[in-house]
Amino acid sequence: MALLQISEPGQSPQPHQRKHAVGIDLGTTNSLVATVRSGMAEVLADEQGRELLPSVAHYTKEGVSCVGHEAVEHNVSDPLNTLSSVKRLLGRGLADVKTFGGQLPYEFASDDGGMPKINTAYGLISPIQVSAEILRKLAGRAEIAFDNMLDGAVITVPAYFDEAQRQATKDAATLAGIKVLRLLNEPTAAAIAYGLDEIETEAGDQERIIAIYDLGGGTFDISILRLSKGVFEVLATGGDSALGGDDFDHAIADWLRQEMALSNDLNPIEQRILLETAKFAKEELTESEQVEIEVLDWQGTLTRELMYSLIDGLIDKTLRACKRSMRDAGVQQSQISNVILVGGSTRTPRVASKVAELFGKQPLCSLDPDQVVAMGAALQAEVLVGNKSGDEMLLLDVIPLSLGIETMGGLIEKIIHRNTTIPVAKAQEFTTFKDGQTAMAIHVLQGERELASDCRSLARFELRGIPPMVAGAAKIRVAYQVDADGLLSVSAKEITSNVESRIEVKPSYGLGEEDITSMLHDSFSHARDDMQVRALREQQVEADRMIEDLLAALEKDGAALLDDNERQCLKVAIHELTELRGNTIEHRVLARQIESVAKASEEFAARRMDASIKTALAGHTLEEIEKG
Ligand code: ADP
Ligand code: MG
Repeated sequence: MALLQISEPGQSPQPHQRKHAVGIDLGTTNSLVATVRSGMAEVLADEQGRELLPSVAHYTKEGVSCVGHEAVEHNVSDPLNTLSSVKRLLGRGLADVKTFGGQLPYEFASDDGGMPKINTAYGLISPIQVSAEILRKLAGRAEIAFDNMLDGAVITVPAYFDEAQRQATKDAATLAGIKVLRLLNEPTAAAIAYGLDEIETEAGDQERIIAIYDLGGGTFDISILRLSKGVFEVLATGGDSALGGDDFDHAIADWLRQEMALSNDLNPIEQRILLETAKFAKEELTESEQVEIEVLDWQGTLTRELMYSLIDGLIDKTLRACKRSMRDAGVQQSQISNVILVGGSTRTPRVASKVAELFGKQPLCSLDPDQVVAMGAALQAEVLVGNKSGDEMLLLDVIPLSLGIETMGGLIEKIIHRNTTIPVAKAQEFTTFKDGQTAMAIHVLQGERELASDCRSLARFELRGIPPMVAGAAKIRVAYQVDADGLLSVSAKEITSNVESRIEVKPSYGLGEEDITSMLHDSFSHARDDMQVRALREQQVEADRMIEDLLAALEKDGAALLDDNERQCLKVAIHELTELRGNTIEHRVLARQIESVAKASEEFAARRMDASIKTALAGHTLEEIEKG
């Protein structure tokens, strides 16, 4: 999410080579497509002049029947085949979905153990397919505008989206036949739309902290970014994946139901009508002081003040999440230079005024809060496709959580740290633990904690065919590469033999925003414990190695090189070390014991060395040896 500004050379095409690129905001509730015309970002509307495309697709036995506004119409009559909010499912596993899928009315199934699919009249449909339909529809608008020439798109994703969720988004674009120039974080796109990256350049090296408050239909996201020396760093992300404008609608509908004093329950169609009415009234009250409502034989008035009393509790919930994120980021509200409002629900004046009050400054809202993300994406697409002059800035993101590998003792060795700007490639060398070891298991992990079991497992693979060598002789280079979209590939190679193995990390499930927030939070609060545990594990690994080595040496040379007494002493030392290794939780105690065993076995090691040199030299002249 951090933005690193680099300029790509050779990107100043002739005017006639001008390319057509778009930015797409693939939203949970609504999606948009924007492009840059005469230097200005603007949203592309459909033939009826509508800018928002509801992120909804309707399926029949024959397949997808319609997407967007037309699909919404089927919500009441055919809810199980009218798929909405699928962004919540992208890159998730069946287990993840069970925890929040209750909010969605669909029947889930998984035919391959991977991402959950939705059972429709047409058969099993994956959330990627639904997203692809939405993207295709938006690309269609662009093709009409550009005479069938679309060269590429920047697609936005929430800042907390992990590998799996990003990959799923990219797969959806590929399925829709769209060339993805880059995936861009939504808060970053909003900051670009307001040109904050440029202000920073003018102000020199001064750092600024930006809060992006995004209240959509069903989700609330707060992101705190720091822009410093051309890099946007994510200090914190937070929010609530089940809080948005839809909850305002429900609160108003509940009030309506009370006012109507209904004796019997509403049927699903009546409920739907009530919700639609509530939503309509809410949006009206953004412009007017009061609204007359006529619904299901009931008539009445809803004033702004009354609506505010219904939704204030919900808004306050978002403010608490903002405070939490500021705490996580370690910033005071006075340090925040800009607040940006994103998402349709920030149109409600009460939301804007409460946010202004919390941060102690007027939020930026001159751009349409529905459109700001798509506009920022369009500006970035324009640069990436090569329409801007050579010195134009490119913005790069950072990875949200560290990527690492599991090492002996169940620890994680971080290879790429959180907030590293991407693309990035990093490698680290590892070695074998046992004599003659011919395979090595590679376990790819993501997270901030010190123990592998506390991090998220992304993938496992094996490097096979390592030539047998003594422990510690093989050199295995594990390389992690994260491309500009935040997608990871891992390779492992034994250097002396050139044996190689690689995988694209394509996990079938992913982390949620809460997971990431809580993993970060845990890593801070457990940092001390983790350090202790890590130090202990390291000493345990060291102890194991020493015990194994010494037992093997005793077995081989003990009888020949040591007398009874010496052998007994060494056995006792090994036994004590083994006991301590199993019992102590004090890494320093274990380290001291390891050191004393090392001392006790020094003499034995020296004699073994002499003996092996003698064996090697036996039968050779000194001359032969010197020639090598
Ligand atoms: P998402 O990011 O989840 O796709 P949006 O940013 O498009 O969602 O926001 C959709 C929400 O914005 C809906 O709850 C809708 O009712 C609300 N909304 C749209 N226009 C207005 C308005 N004029 N006043 C208040 N709320 C609005
Ligand atoms: Mg949105």
